[in-house]
Amino acid sequence: MKLSRIASLSILALAPFAYTQSTQSQDDEYAKLVKQWTTKPEFMSPLVDHLPKAPGIPTTRDVLGYYAGAPKKLTKVAELGKYYRALAAASKRVKILPTGTTDEGRECIVIAVSDEENIRNLDANKAALAKLADPRGLSDADAKKIIASAKPIYMFTGGLHSAETGPPEMLMELAYRLAVEDTPMYDQIRKNVIVMMSAVAEPDGRDRYVDWYNRYKISEEGENDRVPGPPYWGKYIFHDNNRDINYSQITMRNWLKFYLEWHPPIMHDLHESQPFLYTFSGQSPQNPTLDPILYAELPWFSNFEMTKMIGFGMPGVWTHAFVDMWSPGYLGFMSSNHNGMLRMYETFGNGGANTMKRTVGGGGPDGGAGEAAGGRGGRGGGMTSREWYRPVPPYRNVEWSMRNNTNFMETGVLSALELTAGFSSTILENFYKKSRNSIESGKTEAPYGYVLPAGQADMTRVAFIVNTLRLQGIEVGRATAEVKLKEGTYPAGSLIVKRNQPYGRLAKILLEKQNFPDPALTTYDDTGWTMGLMSNAQVQESADKAILDVAVQPVDQLAIPGLLKGSGAVTAIVQNGANSLATLRYRLKDQKFEAIEQAYKSGDVDLPAGSLLVASSPRVKSVIEELGLQAVTLAQAPNVPKHLLEVPRLAVFTTWGGTQDVGWVRYAFDHYEVNYDLIYKERIKKGNLRADYDVILVPSQGRGSGKALIFDIESKGKPYAYTKSADFPSLGAYGESEDITGGMGLAGVAELDKFVNQGGVLITLGGSSFFPAEFGLTRNVDAARTSAQFYAPGPIVEAEILKPTHPIFYGYTQKIVPVRWAGGPLLRVPTEDRKQILMQFPGTDKSVLSGLMRGVAETRNRPAVVDVPVGQGHVVMFATNPCYRWQNLGEFPMLANSILNFNDYPKADATPAAGPSAAANH
Ligand SMILES: [Zn+2]
Repeated sequence: MKLSRIASLSILALAPFAYTQSTQSQDDEYAKLVKQWTTKPEFMSPLVDHLPKAPGIPTTRDVLGYYAGAPKKLTKVAELGKYYRALAAASKRVKILPTGTTDEGRECIVIAVSDEENIRNLDANKAALAKLADPRGLSDADAKKIIASAKPIYMFTGGLHSAETGPPEMLMELAYRLAVEDTPMYDQIRKNVIVMMSAVAEPDGRDRYVDWYNRYKISEEGENDRVPGPPYWGKYIFHDNNRDINYSQITMRNWLKFYLEWHPPIMHDLHESQPFLYTFSGQSPQNPTLDPILYAELPWFSNFEMTKMIGFGMPGVWTHAFVDMWSPGYLGFMSSNHNGMLRMYETFGNGGANTMKRTVGGGGPDGGAGEAAGGRGGRGGGMTSREWYRPVPPYRNVEWSMRNNTNFMETGVLSALELTAGFSSTILENFYKKSRNSIESGKTEAPYGYVLPAGQADMTRVAFIVNTLRLQGIEVGRATAEVKLKEGTYPAGSLIVKRNQPYGRLAKILLEKQNFPDPALTTYDDTGWTMGLMSNAQVQESADKAILDVAVQPVDQLAIPGLLKGSGAVTAIVQNGANSLATLRYRLKDQKFEAIEQAYKSGDVDLPAGSLLVASSPRVKSVIEELGLQAVTLAQAPNVPKHLLEVPRLAVFTTWGGTQDVGWVRYAFDHYEVNYDLIYKERIKKGNLRADYDVILVPSQGRGSGKALIFDIESKGKPYAYTKSADFPSLGAYGESEDITGGMGLAGVAELDKFVNQGGVLITLGGSSFFPAEFGLTRNVDAARTSAQFYAPGPIVEAEILKPTHPIFYGYTQKIVPVRWAGGPLLRVPTEDRKQILMQFPGTDKSVLSGLMRGVAETRNRPAVVDVPVGQGHVVMFATNPCYRWQNLGEFPMLANSILNFNDYPKADATPAAGPSAAANH
């Protein structure tokens, strides 16, 4: 008896109880293949070991020829669309929602899957969720009624990071399964939840990565013969598409627009980097402004997934100790920022679809460009240790396949959907409460709002803030009369952000000073992002409740009208630090512009140093008006020192291995219409740079090492061509190379040295500023590194301008300016050359304006910008990065000025150490 009892128990334990009790016929071929592709029995689950057949409804194999997770198969954007359209055509439970196009013209689509009735009622449900998202005017009783009939949307995004190749494959199978599988669990999911998914979150990068994979990575056999990744994913950036806090990129704007139209209460972003499945639980540091409900929901879900998956016997499923809840800039945070719930996975990807032996604890899926191994936010030690949050750790050595990855991801998300379906009204209730609490907290907790005063010298940077808030759905109003608050009096027309609105908490998060809660904590990304400081614009926080009653007109988009007064022969454009001054110069590049070197007053208009002069014309007037610039006309040019403002022949240098920070500079230059050639090692090594260029800009790259910048991707003897061909049409974009490895090498350094000595201007930003010091282009300047104790992920700090008359500072009226700490070099110049220091870091505790800088004293009096004369030319080294992720628009004028005034820097010998410049320039 005893024996048979044990036997029957074990049969019970192995029985696939709730999951496959369907009478549907099953796809035997699928079951056979996925078993074969799964490298250990415990990497499978009863949720994904079978696939039901449904007459007339195609699987991916019917349309594409293979199942998700098949070895060496990755699906491109057009094929993803083809599959989903075939599925939608065959099933009334599936609908395609077009969501715009990308930089390169690929389509973004969202696929909705639910039961027929929910799909039919999508628009009504959209309206219901919109009411819960903005419950003003809604009584609790009304809200209850809506909650009783509405369905939560659970939205998945996958493939945001192109090297993380699995999610777009898995999502196709998930959509099919949700559409056809016929068991109580699926019935309940379809009845209670509307599941949505992006086909792929970064379509341009998907196609480029798949082309690169098919060309090179498909022959990788193990993690020790890794091929470098492709030089580009999207048009401009790699991983930073998940750090685009101001939604500069078209594709990221598509998703935000979609979010604000549909209001999914849950958004789940699928990444790959950690073994075998990490599920985000919102660990500390947490942004305390977000609703406490959110912080309860996050571990609720992650613990449920662990419960299910560990119950299935799957190892390596864990939570905690990786990503935290501090920065609001990740793409998926659009959900928690708007009172929804962000969810996130990291699963174990091989950077392609090859099966290979992996050692856990190694690098990211794309050999370093992936999310940092080990977890910056983590304190959990090695990935293979048992911890309270990792009861069954991943294996140290494992053979891993794309299908394993698919099994883990799909089992996890199905568990999350099971939970959502079981508690769909709790999800909706919490969504409503978080929205309501956001409004209420704005009425009861200071700050009650923010004022962006009218009348600031440059209102275009104010407009940038306002329009970014508007993009996020935050309401902004224009005061109809003078505003009196306890903080001060502000003119009519000032912009007012009230906190008693659905996204009032997000407004606070974006505009306030970031008080990092505990200097002992680390975080995954930046600690500071305060928009007013980043834009060098005045934003006043108000603890005065009266701000809630200020009469305003709602602002849709804030346009700053340009103004040109007078009808004289010469137009003088006010230098007010507007970034569009660079646009003006480039849009009218054939005209002769001059910059005045001393302030001048014309009637009641102040023309600070750096103001531009150009011959008046209707075209000049219309461009000034388009760009929101302020100008007057004069009968003749004022009699003050001035110089010609020529458009330089500008090159932007990029390595092949670090194009991302360059990409942000390219984005800014394209936005402001600055003309440049993007050049690579190929052009540098050809030499004779001075014949083609006046200025070479080296944006931050090389991971803070001169050597890494110069030698770039290590050559292992085999060339990797990045060229376009019929088979690989997405390669060769933004530059071509027969071999992306090897870097410019010492021969390249010699060419840059020649360029400078022959009169060129070399400008280095952030981490690239190690290179001129380390390779001796600037022999007097040293570049040191901060100590191991120093920790400063992107705080905003003070910088002190020492040479206010240098053209780099045209448009800056303060001596102290806020800058983002860029992790650049600690520069040192000898005392006798201190006159080369244009700006420095005061480096005191009070000079940390927002975010965390641990070890601020290490930066004390270190140069922030130096202008070093070398031969006939100059090397300008920024320890800051004046063009960072479309965020620090207040620093950008320093970069634009350094380019536009390239041949008008003060002569070093004639420049006194401080005070007004006596230098006479041409
Ligand atoms: Zn990722």
